[in-house]
Amino acid sequence: MRIAGNFLSLTHTPIAGLHYGMQILTNTGGMAMTNSHMVADEIAKQAVIFDAPDNTVAPLLDEAVKHGWDVIGLWLTHGHFDHFADHPVVRRRFPNAKFLIHKSEALKTAQPELQTRLFRLSIEIEPLKVDAYVIDNQVLQIGSMKVQVIFTPGHAPGHVCYYFPNEKLLIGGDLIIGGSVGRTDLPDSNHSDMEASLRRVMALPPETRLLGGHGPATTLAHERQTNYFLRDFLDNP
Ligand SMILES: [Zn+2]
Ligand SMILES: [Zn+2]
Repeated sequence: MRIAGNFLSLTHTPIAGLHYGMQILTNTGGMAMTNSHMVADEIAKQAVIFDAPDNTVAPLLDEAVKHGWDVIGLWLTHGHFDHFADHPVVRRRFPNAKFLIHKSEALKTAQPELQTRLFRLSIEIEPLKVDAYVIDNQVLQIGSMKVQVIFTPGHAPGHVCYYFPNEKLLIGGDLIIGGSVGRTDLPDSNHSDMEASLRRVMALPPETRLLGGHGPATTLAHERQTNYFLRDFLDNP
């Protein structure tokens, strides 16, 4: 398991802008090498899992148990199979965790067979029961950390990012990934929505840390400089 940003407790060096007690653990796996991020408030002993790729979430839940954290949620960026397949693992071990997603993605998670057919997958995925739908600008909470929902359609019609304004951290899903941007050639993708979403997220502070759905942790400033696909969207309207 890769530790994406266990900034404070490993080093005990306060870093400006980061909430004291914030812990971030990432595990990458599944058929599409997808990131599952767990963000915890060590003081409040609460954690949330962002996205649940196939065969990837269990080690994060083990860590949560080890630290005595209550996993209060599985908050999904969108409904592609590689981002939610492991949801029964979370439900089994933390039955009270709230499963959140944008309403426009709910069909994909309620009927996983649509995707297993489309992508000719060899795995079976259980239908996901959503506890609540997130909407744009909704403010959620993990312990004492505020998390803002940013509606970012394009790659998928109900794609959202989760933004920690005080910690300047963005859980970005498949908006900006691994030096590229999320694909927009899928049946329910939309290229011009994608452009608007990229512009909106790139208006956040450049020092914002970005934990995407695939690839290593980065910052918005680094992506602005180095991500050719992103620049293409931003510079050629
Ligand atoms: Zn996706
Ligand atoms: Zn993905």
